[in-house]
Amino acid sequence: MSSSHNMRIGYGWDSHEFKRGIPLKIGGVVLDHPRGLGGHSDGDVLLHAITDALLGAVAAPDIGSLFPPSDPQWKGADSRVFLDEALKRVQQAGYRIANLDSTLILMEPRIGPYAGTIRARVSELLGISADAIGIKAKTPEGMGTDNAAIAHVTVLLEKPEPQPRPKGTRKKTDRA
Ligand code: MG
Repeated sequence: MSSSHNMRIGYGWDSHEFKRGIPLKIGGVVLDHPRGLGGHSDGDVLLHAITDALLGAVAAPDIGSLFPPSDPQWKGADSRVFLDEALKRVQQAGYRIANLDSTLILMEPRIGPYAGTIRARVSELLGISADAIGIKAKTPEGMGTDNAAIAHVTVLLEKPEPQPRPKGTRKKTDRA
C-alpha cells in the first residue's frame, strides 16, 4: 500500500446556462441539441470541472484565477487549453491520474446515448484509460435549475513509486 503522500484527491464543480444558437459541448464532444452552454469560453462545463479538480488536487490556483473571464484572449476558447494547463501542473508536481469520476446534472439532452463518446474523448484528452473515467448524469429533480448544466468531478492522483535501480549499477557518487 502506498503512503498517503503518494496520493492526492481533487474536486471540481461548474455550471453554465443554456443559450440558443450555440453548439452544446460537453467533455469535448458536440451534442446534437438546439441550445448550447453560454460562457466566456466554449462553455464546456465538464472540462471546466475536470480542470478545477486537477488543479485542486495539486493545490494550484483555480480555473478562474488562471484564465480570468475578464481576459479577452479566453473568449470562445477551446476548453482543452485549460485542461492542458491543469495536466501540465499535475505532471510538474510528479503525479499522474489514477481515476476520475463525474456527475452531470441537466434536464436535457439525455446523456446516456453520448456517454461512451464523451468517455472516449475525455480519455483521449487526459491520456488515461477510458475504464478509469466515470461519466454519469442525472436530471435536476426539484432543483429549479432546468436552464443550466452542472458538473461535479472528483479525481484521484497518484505519484509513481521510484523504480528500483537495476542490479549491478551504481551511482556515480558511489565510486571511490
Ligand atoms: Mg465554467
